[in-house]
Amino acid sequence: MIKIVFATNNQNKLKEVREALPQYEVVGLKDIGCFEELAEEQDSLKGNAQQKAEYVYHKYNTVCFADDTGLLIDALNGAPGVYSARYSGADCDPQKNMDLVLSNLSGIQNRKAKFQTVICLFDENGPTFFNGEVEGEILEKRTGSEGFGYDPIFQPKGYKASFAQMNMALKNEISHRGLAVKKFIAFLQR
Ligand code: IMP
Repeated sequence: MIKIVFATNNQNKLKEVREALPQYEVVGLKDIGCFEELAEEQDSLKGNAQQKAEYVYHKYNTVCFADDTGLLIDALNGAPGVYSARYSGADCDPQKNMDLVLSNLSGIQNRKAKFQTVICLFDENGPTFFNGEVEGEILEKRTGSEGFGYDPIFQPKGYKASFAQMNMALKNEISHRGLAVKKFIAFLQR
């Protein structure tokens, strides 16, 4: 099996991508001896994905891909967007981030939002990008216990369940990351 490095220590993301890419041995940062928190200092998802993948490619001398994801909410002018991980400040965590989204949207009718993932593959040809997006809406309260991050408050368009009420196979089929991974797989198999 061909080994490929996914520049993340997020076990949820690793699980999702491993399930979507069974023909590859997808290893995380710890598996290559990288225990650092990779910097994400750019002001775009694309920039952050490239920063992480390029860093690992050069420092660990291995072909690598990285992703960056944002939740973009219409009524908040696209926030939290590229700042989704740190939305609630220095001591942020997923619960505080969701609380802040819910309080910023309280009383607001327009609940439209989308998740966007950009994957950057970095190899001897430099960066190649794959984009995935899913539209939906922000629920009034948390629903479901699967998944991670903002999953309990995001309901994809056309479904009556939040991402946190879906099993991983269904989430992968329709999610931002799942769609970006599909394009990535098509590129690997070209
Ligand atoms: P990052 O791509 O790890 O930087 O993620 C940015 C933020 O979006 C973090 O707060 C994650 O928890 C959240 N996030 C990333 N992917 C997902 C997802 O699939 N569902 C819900 N939240 C996510």
